[in-house]
Amino acid sequence: QAGSTSRAARTVRAPRGGERTAKSWGAEAAKRMLMNNLDPEVAEHPEDLVVYGGTGKAARSWEAYDAIVRTLDELEPDETLLVQSGKPVGVFRTHEWAPRVLIANSNLVGDWATWPEFRRLEHLGLTMYGQMTAGSWIYIGTQGILQGTYETFAAVARSLGRDDLAGTLTLTAGCGGMGGAQPLAVTLNGGAVLIVDVDESRLQRRVEHGYLDEYTTDLDDAVARVVAAKNAGRALSVGVVGNAAEVFGDVLLRHRAGEVAVDVVTDQTSAHDPLAYLPAGIAFEDWRAEASRDPEAFTARARGSMAKHVAAMVGFMDAGAEVFDYGNSLRAEAQLGGFERAFAFPGFVPAYIRPQFAEGRGPFRWVALSGDPEDIRKTDRAMRELFPDNAGLVRWLEKAGDAVHFEGLPARICWLGYQERHLAGLKFNEMVAAGELAGPIVIGRDHLDAGSVASPYRETEAMADGSDAIADWPLLNALLNTASGAAWVSIHHGGGVGIGRSIHAGQVTVADGTALAAQKLERVLTNDPGTGVMRHVDAGYDRAKEVARERGLNVPMLGA
Ligand code: NAD
Repeated sequence: QAGSTSRAARTVRAPRGGERTAKSWGAEAAKRMLMNNLDPEVAEHPEDLVVYGGTGKAARSWEAYDAIVRTLDELEPDETLLVQSGKPVGVFRTHEWAPRVLIANSNLVGDWATWPEFRRLEHLGLTMYGQMTAGSWIYIGTQGILQGTYETFAAVARSLGRDDLAGTLTLTAGCGGMGGAQPLAVTLNGGAVLIVDVDESRLQRRVEHGYLDEYTTDLDDAVARVVAAKNAGRALSVGVVGNAAEVFGDVLLRHRAGEVAVDVVTDQTSAHDPLAYLPAGIAFEDWRAEASRDPEAFTARARGSMAKHVAAMVGFMDAGAEVFDYGNSLRAEAQLGGFERAFAFPGFVPAYIRPQFAEGRGPFRWVALSGDPEDIRKTDRAMRELFPDNAGLVRWLEKAGDAVHFEGLPARICWLGYQERHLAGLKFNEMVAAGELAGPIVIGRDHLDAGSVASPYRETEAMADGSDAIADWPLLNALLNTASGAAWVSIHHGGGVGIGRSIHAGQVTVADGTALAAQKLERVLTNDPGTGVMRHVDAGYDRAKEVARERGLNVPMLGA
C-alpha cells in the first residue's frame, strides 16, 4: 500500500440538492462531507488528500477514498461502516439509531506515540494523520475557526482594557487553513494586523477568499502600511512573505527602536508537526525535499528556529505586549529547541476560553447539503429569532452574513453551549420538514471543544485540578454520542498539537426533517455539550457547577 496515494489531478466536489443516491441521509451526508473536505475551494492541498493543519487528511489514499464513497452509497440504513485512519475496513449490521460511520484516526499506544514512529507506520501505508475535522469529515474551510478566532481577539481587546482592537497592531504568522482566519478576525474587531507566511500562495488564497486585505513581499512596506492603519485607528490586514523565525525578531528590533509599536503577538504556523514548519535558512522550494531527505535533522532545525521565534515572542511580552500561544504546540517545540522560557506566556484556552468551556460552549457548525446559500441565510435568521437575547451571537451572525465568503458547501459557525444547541438542531429539522430549506442540514462541531478533548498544551492546559492529561473524557464523549444517535462519531489522536499530545473526539448529526432525526438531534445536541459541563464540574469549576444545577445536568457527585 505504500505510496498508493495517487497524485493524479482529481477534482472532488460534493453533490448538491435534496435528492440522495445513498440509502439514508446519514450515509449521504457523510459522503458529501468527505467530498466537501476535499473540494479545492475547501482543502489546502487536495491533490494529496490534505485538508488543513499541516498534513491533516480526509482519506488514506485515493483508493481508500473511492472505496469509502462506494460503500456509503451501498450502506443500508441499519448498517455501520468502520473507518480506520482513512481506510474503510468493515461494514456491520447495527440498527437505525446507530451511527452510519465510526472513525478512529491516528491512534497509537502511549509509548509508541511519537512523530518518528507515526511516520514509519504512515510510510508503510498503515495509518494517516486525521488532524481534527479533516479525518472526521466536518471541516468547513477557514470559516470553521473564524468565530472562535474573532471571540479570542475580542477577549484580547478586553484584556487590554479596550472595547475593540481599533488603534492596535497585532503581529502573527501562519496564514493556512485555520491560521488564515486571524487577519479577518482582527479586522472584524477593528484592529490592524501583520501576518507572516513563508508560502506566498497561502496569502494570495486568503486575499481571494476575503480573509486578508492585501499582501506584499517587502517587510518595510508591510510595516509602513500597518503602522499607518494603526495610527489612523483603521482596520487593515497585511500579509508579508517571510519566515516567522526571522521576521518576528526583526519586528522586535523595530519595536524596541520605537519604529513600530506592537500590541498583541501570537502565531498559527503548523508548529505541531516540525516537518510542517519551515526552518529559517531553508528555501521554501527545498522544504519538502529537505524534510523527507532527513526528517530528524529537519526536525532539529525546525525546533531551533521555533526557539528563535518564541524568544522574539517572549521579547515582545517583556516589552509589555499581550502574547499568547494559539494552540499549535509552538511553545513545546521551542522548548525542545533549547529555549528555556518558552512557557513564559499562556495558551489561549486558559487565557481567554475556559469560562466558555465551563458552560459547554464551543464551536457549533452546520452545513447546507443542498449547496444553496439561501438555506444558510434562512438558518441565520432562525438563529437570531431563537436567541434574540444573545447579543454576541446576533452581532456575530450579522457580521458573518456580510463578511464570510463560503468555501465549498455553504456553512455557518457559532458558539453555543449546553441546553442551547439542541434548540437550533430541532429548529433546523422543522425547517427541513416544512420544505423551507432546499435540503437537509448537517450539524457538527470542531474538536476544539469543552468536553471531547484531552490536550495539555491547548484545551486542557492548566486545568484547576491538574487533570490536563486525563484522556478518559474524550472517549466517554465519543461513546455517549454513539449511544445518543449521532450520524458519525470519531476518535482521534494528535490533532491540533501533534502526535503524543492530544486525544479527542467528534460527532456529526443530520437534520433530514424526519421524526427520528428530531429525537436523535435532541439527545446528541444536549448530551455532547453536556459532557463539557460535566468535565468542568469534575475539575472543580464553580461556573460549571452553577450551570449543571441551573440547567438540570445530572452529575451524581456534584454535591460531594
Ligand atoms: P496549515 O498547514 O494550513 O497552515 C500553516 C501555515 O504556516 C502554512 O501556510 C505555512 O506556509 C506556514 N508556515 C510554516 N512554517 C512557517 C514559518 N517558519 N514562518 C511563517 N509561516 C510558516 O495549518 P492550519 O490549519 O492553518 O493550522 C495551523 C496551526 O494551528 C496547526 O498547528 C494547527 O494544529 C493549529 N490550529 C489551531 C487552532 C486554534 O483554534 N487555535 C485551530 C486549528 C488549528
